[in-house]
Amino acid sequence: MRFAIGDATVDIIVDDDNFVLPLSEFLPGADPKLLDAHRGILEPEFVDRARDLARFAIQSFVLRTGGKTLLIDCCIGAHKDIPEIPAWHQRRGSGFLDRLRQTGVDPAEVDMVFCTHLHVDHVGWNTQQDNGRWQPTFPNARYLFGRHELADWMTQHDTGRAPPIHARALEQSVIPIVEAGKADLVDDGHEIGPGLHLAPLPGHTSGQMGLVVNYARDRAIFCGDAIHHPLQIHFGLPHFCAAHPRENQKVINQISHLLGSVCDDVQITPAIFIQGFSPVLVCSFASTASVTN
Ligand SMILES: [Zn+2]
Repeated sequence: MRFAIGDATVDIIVDDDNFVLPLSEFLPGADPKLLDAHRGILEPEFVDRARDLARFAIQSFVLRTGGKTLLIDCCIGAHKDIPEIPAWHQRRGSGFLDRLRQTGVDPAEVDMVFCTHLHVDHVGWNTQQDNGRWQPTFPNARYLFGRHELADWMTQHDTGRAPPIHARALEQSVIPIVEAGKADLVDDGHEIGPGLHLAPLPGHTSGQMGLVVNYARDRAIFCGDAIHHPLQIHFGLPHFCAAHPRENQKVINQISHLLGSVCDDVQITPAIFIQGFSPVLVCSFASTASVTN
């Protein structure tokens, strides 16, 4: 799928379009009556009520503008150790790089990679195995990591507090990039190019950042996992907040802020909405949302 933001083009490259989580655990405040009343617009893409599942897509965005190619988030990858999620463990043959090439982008032509945050499903294709070592998948790219995000994860990693699934993601998909000298540590407000800058979106992780596109009349934000599911937009908050109790208020504030920006015609582009849920639909969902925060 391709869409435009001003003169920029954006291609969505899917790595896993069938990732599901128990709906009642992931969005514990979900009102079953509301869900049943809106099954017509939620099924089959976004929920499976009969099996109590929320559906997601793990995907990257390829932003091409001004002769530069930027890859936003790097999904799951191949051959990674992720035993907590069997479908992702030591996986191969997902076709991600082939789909990237089909959009006209060879991995060697990627100029920049930006990871909104360093969770396992956002860093995987940063690296691939080569003779038993993790090497950059995009050999000519600079990789942008949030300075605070990386520092926080490294502290958790070095003190043994990082969940194993994310600790291994650091070891396999992030630290090799730093050691290869390919990483640029960036802060809030960092300008990637004309009309492109990074903005803080803490809550989901302490250092998550979004990529803001600001082209005169055309504006957008790639907001990573600040919003997880269309339910959070359509039915309002806090009833559909993800299950992160300690961070919930930050998350609620972030989502409210993002939805508010939609009212100013800023197109929000969450990382893990199903591919068919186009950014245009995000706007129309948000325009009818009842933000109860
Ligand atoms: Zn995440």
